[in-house]
Amino acid sequence: AKADGRNVFRFYHDELNKASIDKFNLLQLMRKALKKREFQLYFQPKLQLAEQRIIGAEALIRWPQPDGSMISPDEFIPLAESSGLIVEIGEWVLQQACLACSRWQQQGYDLTVAVNLSFVQFRDGKLEQQVQQALSAAALPAHALELELTESLLIGEGDNIALQLAAMHQLGIRFSIDDFGTGYSNLGYLRRFNASRLKIDKSFILSLCLSERDEPLVRAIIQMSKSLGLKTVAEGIEDSATAARLALLGCDEGQGFYWAKPLPEGDFLGFVSAELLN
Ligand code: C2E
Ligand code: CA
Ligand code: CA
Ligand code: CA
Repeated sequence: AKADGRNVFRFYHDELNKASIDKFNLLQLMRKALKKREFQLYFQPKLQLAEQRIIGAEALIRWPQPDGSMISPDEFIPLAESSGLIVEIGEWVLQQACLACSRWQQQGYDLTVAVNLSFVQFRDGKLEQQVQQALSAAALPAHALELELTESLLIGEGDNIALQLAAMHQLGIRFSIDDFGTGYSNLGYLRRFNASRLKIDKSFILSLCLSERDEPLVRAIIQMSKSLGLKTVAEGIEDSATAARLALLGCDEGQGFYWAKPLPEGDFLGFVSAELLN
């Protein structure tokens, strides 16, 4: 029994070691990727549902690999957050998103860009400055930038974040509550944070036309959102039936593979000009 115990211990030990070495390697690779400008920013079109008119894009980070594959943000953002590297990655994302949106405006497209923020980016108090610099370097008006925040971010860190959000709100920046319905869905904080949009999590939208259970929930979220004066956005719209159903339910905006996956900027602009010709 004693020997078994030791083997069990060694097994654990080796597994833990392996996991932390992998993390260490991944972190090193991320640092290098940032320095060598290997990350890319993709853009997923957002549409106004009633007229299916394009209104902007959500910026989503991509990490291409030498073999042509991509590491998904779900795989590296958590480590970027726990290591703090997300502060620099997030600054790069803000800069690139603002520059891209400014190019669209110069081409005559009146579009907005939405950027995802991590709670870690609020920790050192420099976010407002980063945002301001990204806007001014791109000569982009603040109202063209939207910041997407998750519920857990808003609930977790309270006052410190509220103050920083209020300062950015003063600049004219707008906020969306991302992944709504997956966290606490506490209504109290919605007003406190001056959000202008509420994004219904895609887990409710993907099965909207398949499961009887989702529609009452989605309907309730849309109604609540309206009564709070917020716009409602649905993500994860994969077919025309879901788009039509959401429009009927009064959902204002949407994004999803039905229209387009996240695209490199050139392809995104191709989508925009094709949509406008329609
Ligand atoms: P998110 O903010 O909820 O982004 C929406 C995700 O849903 C994206 O995954 C998008 O590709 C995917 N999606 C959009 N439409 C559909 C659809 O119709 N069907 C399905 N099945 N999926 C759809 P992605 O790009 O893999 O990003 C995953 C998450 O990584 C994001 O979730 C966000 O939390 C995080 N992320 C991505 N880029 C950034 C970034 O620049 N900064 C930070 N902090 N997080 C990011
Ligand atoms: Ca998002
Ligand atoms: Ca989301
Ligand atoms: Ca998400």
